[in-house]
Amino acid sequence: MYKHHSEIGRFAPSPSGQLHIGNLASCLLAWLDARSAGGKLIFRMEDLDPERSRKDSEGSIVRTLKALGLGWDEGYPDAGYSQSERREKYDEAFELLLRRDLLYPCYCSRSERLAASAPHPGEKRNDPGCKCRHLSALQRRELDKSGRKAAWKIKVPDKTVRFLDGHYGEFSENLADSGDFIIKRSDGVYAYQLAVSFDDMDMGITRVVRGRDLLTSTAKQIWLIQTLGGDVPQYYHAPLIVGADGRKLSKRYGDLSAEALLCEHSPEELIGQLAGLLGISGGKPESASELLEHFDWANVKKNDIMM
Ligand code: GLU
Repeated sequence: MYKHHSEIGRFAPSPSGQLHIGNLASCLLAWLDARSAGGKLIFRMEDLDPERSRKDSEGSIVRTLKALGLGWDEGYPDAGYSQSERREKYDEAFELLLRRDLLYPCYCSRSERLAASAPHPGEKRNDPGCKCRHLSALQRRELDKSGRKAAWKIKVPDKTVRFLDGHYGEFSENLADSGDFIIKRSDGVYAYQLAVSFDDMDMGITRVVRGRDLLTSTAKQIWLIQTLGGDVPQYYHAPLIVGADGRKLSKRYGDLSAEALLCEHSPEELIGQLAGLLGISGGKPESASELLEHFDWANVKKNDIMM
């Protein structure tokens, strides 16, 4: 019988390496959250950036999630669930934004762009930012002729976006504080903000669970989804697991890969340890489904968790 799910969550890993313990924490919480809400889980492979995505990482991510009993209902490896295959859909969103006069080409180099971005999330920008928004048609033609490759930026309004994070509570951010952002890179690859917002909307995602490092992207994504005419999901951000030096863990540094940990520990031991770190259990070995029986967001820690 067709089972109707009103809640839809997602796994959205980037295959730039094996899952590390921090990525795994996000996947575990996304799974627990969707399952405890009686929802469905979609697996989307975020292989948007061809330079950083690797097929062997995709295999490793799938093996890890399966070994840990974190199953999904729909998605990868079926057609249409990898971002690299969804370019035509992003083209449509891009065209829509272009027609609404929300996009402009930005000719700045990467270093110029970094210099023009706000120093820290939430801080007011202390420089005039990129000037490309105000170039004339003639100036744009000349730059195009000179061979400068443009990225595409979106014009953000002076507007405060408010949202209630399911775990961290109320947030508000004025979009103009961090300024216009890139929608399509100068090499033609769509930017994370566009792809993830569009996909969450297009796949009907109602609950987004992910690491707290992405809280600073949330206001942009909410506004993009509203601008594209979609329904905004409920966001739940999770504490980050950081190295002993306070540095965010990264796949690129080969930090605490889940596959390596699974060579030394049983899936139940790994789930138990992770749950203990997150504050949702005392840390004793248990399976994901056992953990589900007593999962409660109220117990999830809020501060970064030091390994
Ligand atoms: N693909 C992103 C990552 O692995 C997550 C994107 C998201 O959850 O919004 O960091």
